[in-house]
Amino acid sequence: MTTLTGRLLVADPHRRQITLRSGSIRIHGEQIVNVDFDDDPGSELISENERGQNELGEAHAGTSPANRSRPLRPGERVIAPGFIDAHLHLSQFGIIGAHGMPLLKWLDQVTFPAERAWQDVDFARSTTRSVLNQLLSFGTTSFCGYTTVHHESTMAALELATQMGFRGMIGQVLMDRNAPQDLCGETNQLIDQAAKTLQSFPPNAEMEAAVTPRFAITCSPPLLESAGALAAQQHAAVQTHLAETQHECARVAELFDSARYVDVYQQAGLLTPRTILGHAVHLDATDHQTLAKHDSIVAHCPTANQFLGSGRMNRKPLAEANVDVVLGSDIGAGFNRSMVCVARAAIETAASLGNPPPTAASAWHDITAGAADALGWDNVGQLCEGHRADVVVIEPDFAIQMQGDDSIIDPLSQLMFAWDDRWIKQTYLRGQSAWGG
Ligand SMILES: [Zn+2]
Repeated sequence: MTTLTGRLLVADPHRRQITLRSGSIRIHGEQIVNVDFDDDPGSELISENERGQNELGEAHAGTSPANRSRPLRPGERVIAPGFIDAHLHLSQFGIIGAHGMPLLKWLDQVTFPAERAWQDVDFARSTTRSVLNQLLSFGTTSFCGYTTVHHESTMAALELATQMGFRGMIGQVLMDRNAPQDLCGETNQLIDQAAKTLQSFPPNAEMEAAVTPRFAITCSPPLLESAGALAAQQHAAVQTHLAETQHECARVAELFDSARYVDVYQQAGLLTPRTILGHAVHLDATDHQTLAKHDSIVAHCPTANQFLGSGRMNRKPLAEANVDVVLGSDIGAGFNRSMVCVARAAIETAASLGNPPPTAASAWHDITAGAADALGWDNVGQLCEGHRADVVVIEPDFAIQMQGDDSIIDPLSQLMFAWDDRWIKQTYLRGQSAWGG
């Protein structure tokens, strides 16, 4: 039995945000078996009416709309549920930092050559091990990942992630055109291989296979349709990319008789409540309605969009259309492996678009309980009894005594904006110390 004490990152499902409460969790076996709070929730929160408004009645920046948690005190640890990265490429951790190219050029010149190395299963396995250990060091315990077109290597990645105890999904990338010949498969064979990944790692597995056509440009209409049919038949998760850059959208229009990009996927049966669409930067209201109609999920990857100069994804109209949005690092176009930094980048992107930026409390929710909710994972993302004990122990060093309890700054905002990955002291995966400690 392990007991972890500190300020707990607790989800408030009604307000879709996080609060900090003093307490402890007990871990037994693979699960959290007990959560105790030292105080009632009210005593841990400071009402905005008391603290959060200035003399003009304006809310202070960085505070949550209703109330916020009391400041962190020096030496206080933060206990968080493991973070969720809803879009990353296992094969691309080695190419982080290839700067200065737009998407399609970056794919041709950097990504495809790197993915070729995954034809060697041993290389793929050792790379996956390194990547999964990196994720743990950044507090990520659940993820949605792409591999490459290589089947055996994808199986090896799924096996390893399962053995290590991760929660999430991995998909073999499906491509049958407009990519180097040796990275394209034969259409039917690719579908057979995707079906095999699903046989071994079915949708109810803790680490499941996902049907993963890379994006419309590299997939023929028959491949997209067969992928949609397979996903429907197996109730499998689907991962793909959508409308990341304008150039890509124009190319899709050329390839698909001027169809709307979203409609290409819709017609192939690829839009489902278990579909995660990376990026969705260049869409309009009609497209948002289509995504909402199918309950599909958008993975917003702000650091990757910034890195490739793809554009700024506007979350506001998606939220207004009731489309769930989750966050992804999109390594290796994304350069930051920390989901806390990705969440901060999402705040910065919203602010740069002139939207009311999400609060830090809601950004923390995005990378924990909010993502788990959207992805339908009911045993991760929160510090709850009966949940998997995927837990991050954080020791921030910014709290100083003179700040007392009178600070006007939300500690969740401080934690996010002053974030330093060295504060992560230990990551538990399914009840076991898997990194640090
Ligand atoms: Zn991606």
